[in-house]
Amino acid sequence: MKKIIIGNWKLNLDHLEAIQLLQKLNYSIEEDKEEKIDIVVSPSHTSLRSIQTIIDTDKLNIQLSAQDVSQFSEGPYTGEVSSHQLNKLNVSYCIVGHSERRIEFNENDEIINKKIHNLISEDITPIICFGESLEQRNNDQYLDHISNQIDAAVKGLRKDKVNNLIFAYEPIWAIGTGEVASAIDVVEVLSMVKEKISEKPFYDSDTVRFIYGGSVTPDNSHELLNSKIIDGALVGGSSLSVEKFVKIINSIDL
Ligand code: PEP
Repeated sequence: MKKIIIGNWKLNLDHLEAIQLLQKLNYSIEEDKEEKIDIVVSPSHTSLRSIQTIIDTDKLNIQLSAQDVSQFSEGPYTGEVSSHQLNKLNVSYCIVGHSERRIEFNENDEIINKKIHNLISEDITPIICFGESLEQRNNDQYLDHISNQIDAAVKGLRKDKVNNLIFAYEPIWAIGTGEVASAIDVVEVLSMVKEKISEKPFYDSDTVRFIYGGSVTPDNSHELLNSKIIDGALVGGSSLSVEKFVKIINSIDL
């Protein structure tokens, strides 16, 4: 399985700064890494058009992700962006179910499921985030909680409609905190999720990936990214530094 590294730029960078970061990144990534690893950037909606134009015109080996999509397809939903609009911008991936959206914007499992269906209908790969709070981990409820989140996220997905999926384990206590989950913790959770998903009719072992996100840095990426079961990383803070992001990419043994 080809590994994937996704940089989630979150609410940072205007479109000019995003272009600069993309170009710097493009010059800094070694060619063989670009070919053997899927490298994805996820800027704000306002930067998607500019970034997509550069990727397409300069034929970069970097792919584009959105950070969010509407649960609605069209209509009177001020401020929303639809999966069709993202498709028209050649967006290949979209993050859904990020804990920041679940917590700050009250997104529940039902909304997340609708977003996943919308993305799939437009051939955009959902990066489905899930993970437990510190309290749930300490109370030993994390596997049940994650199992419920996964069931709700993939509800109603049909084999003939699903192309690719990415499942991103992002323990809430590890996001932006500097506290990274151990490879053992990640393997435990991703093994459970993989087993669960592999029983679903839509599962395709060639295209479905299971990744980790939460305070990934060059100091911890080697162990995480070279584990057989971890297919990649969703990187927040470290993706805003070209130096750190490239070091994370380079830590994958090819
Ligand atoms: C994220 O928000 O998806 C994330 C993993 O952030 P960070 O790497 O900053 O913990």
